[in-house]
Amino acid sequence: MDTYAVGFARPDRWSSGEPAEQAHPWHAVEAHRPPAELDGEIELAVCGAIVQIWGSQKWTRVGAGRTACPECAKVTAVGKTLTSAR
Ligand SMILES: [Zn+2]
Repeated sequence: MDTYAVGFARPDRWSSGEPAEQAHPWHAVEAHRPPAELDGEIELAVCGAIVQIWGSQKWTRVGAGRTACPECAKVTAVGKTLTSAR
């Protein structure tokens, strides 16, 4: 069972950050430990972004939202139940 923690993009760490990133600040991070244990850690999201773990968030819920990173959502297939988009 794959578990994903939720990471929040850190634009303050990107001196050349793209404004578009701000619209989707939530990313998925592969979690090999319970997300609560990773809370506050700086990790690499599945799409390659540097993010800070928010252990209290659930990717299955955040990932389906509009503020989630589309790339991460695609990789984790969090929206795979939405078959209307094929
Ligand atoms: Zn991402």
